[in-house]
Amino acid sequence: MGRKFFVGGNWKCNGTIDEVKKIVSTLNEAEVPSQDVVEVVVSPPFVFLPLAKSSLKPDYQVAAQNCWVKKGGAYTGEISAEMLVNLGVPWVILGHSERRALLNESNEFVGEKVAYALSLGLKVIACIGETLEQRESGSTIAVVSEQTKAIADKVSNWDNVVLAYEPVWAIGTGKVATPAQAQEVHAELRKWLEQNVGAEVAATTRIIYGGSVNGGNCKELAGQPDIDGFLVGGASLKPEFIDIIKSAT
Ligand code: PEP
Repeated sequence: MGRKFFVGGNWKCNGTIDEVKKIVSTLNEAEVPSQDVVEVVVSPPFVFLPLAKSSLKPDYQVAAQNCWVKKGGAYTGEISAEMLVNLGVPWVILGHSERRALLNESNEFVGEKVAYALSLGLKVIACIGETLEQRESGSTIAVVSEQTKAIADKVSNWDNVVLAYEPVWAIGTGKVATPAQAQEVHAELRKWLEQNVGAEVAATTRIIYGGSVNGGNCKELAGQPDIDGFLVGGASLKPEFIDIIKSAT
């Protein structure tokens, strides 16, 4: 019942066709551990999903960075879960802190999105994490528990959920959580799942860490018992992403 290591690459709102082709070449040329050992999922902006999906070798999967909360229709500018399914995109990132903060996505809204995406058969990387202010006031565990509860309230089957703990103060700042800080929160999240969802879900759900992970700090973080992989932003656009994938072994 081992949890397979998971490495996600969130390209955010970056890239041109040429840059996407370059990252794809770097990934395709790299020798990475087999899919039995590590699941690698890269997340280009929507418009580059077909290009990335069709040019990446089968060792890699793709994820969208968001999708709409319910069936598509008159929602100008949105991309629906149905469209992702239609394109054969297997994964979607939901609840990223940039969307929570900049677009006011609430815990409940994220919970609804996760439930809807799962109901269509998508796999979800669900992001949670506290701000610096919340950490300094000692409410980290309360905040991430509340965020997880909003998902658990709407979701009964966790088979297709990866939970990404991403402290907001560590995202894009170069300020990585120490392995002990990350492990502490991951262990608490696993305990929360055990007490509020079930022992099986707690034992099998992958909880990955995100926030300034790079080629230099990934190995020590990966060595923590409750860190089951990473969601990587900035470094997923660089060749060091390969080193992060290799930290699975
Ligand atoms: C992210 O955007 O999910 C992220 C973790 O970014 P970075 O690795 O750049 O901190």
